[in-house]
Amino acid sequence: MIRFENVTKRYRGTSKPALSEVDFEVLRGEFVFLVGPSGSGKSSCLRLILREDTPSEGRVIALGRDLRTMSTRKVPYFRRHIGAVFQDFRLLPTKTVSQNVAFALQVIGASRPFIQQAVPEALSLVGLTGKGKRLPHELSGGEQQRVAIARALVNRPQVLLADEPTGNLDPATSADIMQLLARINLAGTTVVMATHEAGFVDQMQRRVIELSEGVMVRDESHGGYGDRR
Ligand code: ADP
Ligand code: ADP
Repeated sequence: MIRFENVTKRYRGTSKPALSEVDFEVLRGEFVFLVGPSGSGKSSCLRLILREDTPSEGRVIALGRDLRTMSTRKVPYFRRHIGAVFQDFRLLPTKTVSQNVAFALQVIGASRPFIQQAVPEALSLVGLTGKGKRLPHELSGGEQQRVAIARALVNRPQVLLADEPTGNLDPATSADIMQLLARINLAGTTVVMATHEAGFVDQMQRRVIELSEGVMVRDESHGGYGDRR
């Protein structure tokens, strides 16, 4: 589903690479935690998968496409198959919950009847039935993240990327979001989640890929946050 082949990423104007020869493969249906301290390269990995950036060396294959040779023209079509959620939710503040979710379908030219059916379905999936007419600032942080998840899933992507999705939430709300992501994974969506929440990683015992200063130091199929090889 996602393959990193000896990926090195250097940002302009920096001496040390953000990623050094990172090599892994994520299979269909997996739940993968990407762990490591701040600055270890987790977001860089996710940006490469979304083709928001390209490697300096090596290659990234996602959904069977070589992202190095993919033309810029094809990137928006490719991204339809990948949902993404972030620590800061990134909702459109002047649009309602329903409009935020519908927007993801409007930009790909989905029909009105389809949107009218898909939006309530997505909101129901994340437990927000009845909140469609609210504005983001009228919701709690956890609810806002649920809207972001609904928006990411309404296209039925094969992969969901989550970059510190619980980073702005209190522990109880974070646990709810974690449970929701686990449920989404059980339903068949591949999930890659960058986090430094040790508790969830320990609890879930899923695959853990650990980065340290851009180097992959661990890839464990059922690991905790701080386990050693
Ligand atoms: P993490 O998500 O684990 O916090 P990042 O992928 O954001 O790590 O960052 C990895 C390293 O790359 C850090 O040293 C960071 O400062 C650097 N970095 C990230 N983005 C850029 C950028 N656009 N330009 C220069 N350096 C960057
Ligand atoms: P992180 O702090 O997780 O490393 P960044 O803030 O560096 O993430 O942003 C990652 C990518 O998302 C960048 O390509 C940036 O242009 C894009 N981005 C940042 N903020 C927004 C936003 N509000 N809406 C859409 N894209 C955004």
